Amino acid sequence: MLIDLHAHTAPRSNCSRTTLDELVASARRRGLDALCITEHDVRWPDDELADASRTLGFPLIPGVELSTDIGHVLVFGPLERPLWSGYTFEQLVEETERSGTALVLPHPVRRVAGERARRAGRVPPTPAEVAAWPQWSAVHAIEAASTQTIAAEHELTAAALAVAPRPRVGASDAHGPDLAGRFCTRLSVDVRDASGLATEIRAGHTDAVRLDPD
Ligand SMILES: [Zn+2]
Ligand SMILES: [Zn+2]
Repeated sequence: MLIDLHAHTAPRSNCSRTTLDELVASARRRGLDALCITEHDVRWPDDELADASRTLGFPLIPGVELSTDIGHVLVFGPLERPLWSGYTFEQLVEETERSGTALVLPHPVRRVAGERARRAGRVPPTPAEVAAWPQWSAVHAIEAASTQTIAAEHELTAAALAVAPRPRVGASDAHGPDLAGRFCTRLSVDVRDASGLATEIRAGHTDAVRLDPD
């Protein structure tokens, strides 16, 4: 199945300019089988997302994009602490090693090779330096590409993955209409909920797919 693991709706993510209806229309048009909604530091109530999924006739799986001390981390599955209390990356890894929840590192090199870093004239780290970051091996998969990352980030991420291979996912990180599904993830089995998805991600059964060229 094809699934987009990373998308934001307004107003739950105040950086987003798109609605759930538009995200689903875009994902459906590109032939996806499911879409994860991953707002910043807040989750959709399970029953509300399930209702929306029924109304729209499209599988929607809840996740969350947590802000931690090392940057954003995508989380699929339950968390023990309330989200408002926050997590350090170390706390997140310690808890999810026990709980079976899956962690994905989105836009992994944004801070060092993204648009802002490039404009500031920052010299990016080497692929080996990126691959040596603790978060590189502590998460279950790396987001290889999205609509929110630039070519220099995709290239550095791919080079670091060649140095230290990890399971990879693609995801739109959609913040606007017509973006959902442009990058997505292929899973070898059908999943219908966050726990099934977490199991597949933790098993490394993911592959990054790009459906549309720029
Ligand atoms: Zn992010
Ligand atoms: Zn995001």
